[in-house]
Amino acid sequence: MCHSLISDASFWRQLQHLDEQIAQEAKLAGCPYCQGVLHRAHYPRKVFGVRRSLLGEGYDSRLSFCCSREGCRRRTTPASVRFLGRRCFPGALVLLACALTQNLSRRRRARLGATLGVSERTLQRWRHWWRSTLPDTPWWREARARFVPPPQSPLLPSSLLARFSGRGHAEVLIGALQFLTPCSLSTFAALPEQAA
Ligand SMILES: [Zn+2]
Repeated sequence: MCHSLISDASFWRQLQHLDEQIAQEAKLAGCPYCQGVLHRAHYPRKVFGVRRSLLGEGYDSRLSFCCSREGCRRRTTPASVRFLGRRCFPGALVLLACALTQNLSRRRRARLGATLGVSERTLQRWRHWWRSTLPDTPWWREARARFVPPPQSPLLPSSLLARFSGRGHAEVLIGALQFLTPCSLSTFAALPEQAA
């Protein structure tokens, strides 16, 4: 795994495309509460940690819909491969930064963090999410058992990435992000959102 993926615009475009597909399926399915027609009502999002110019169009918002039926009007926000928490940090960065800094000394971690634009404090918060918040969820306890052998929770996220294969690093990372899409939903244990 290599941090250069973060500066690859085509990688971010692939993720955007996958999110558009997920959103399209959600729109076709209609309102989950009343089957009404869904209208676009995307959330504005300010993305931290990645150069804005890399991300292209689309990263300013989290794809979301509102029911058009009077009396319902409820919001439906589909899962996302781009945002692991509800906002701010792209999941790919959270995954990659934590995997790459997992076994580094404090000094080397700080240097790589600076390259990726992620502070030590933010890295600590993300590590806590991988090591404590995620393993504690019923979803993870069920989902990890799909792998043989299951990824070891104390070694997250590297132990999860190691369960995916592909022709290149982008494919491996995208496989892991697709697996993690339930973590993008607001009903899921939230990733700490504040940028340090
Ligand atoms: Zn509805």
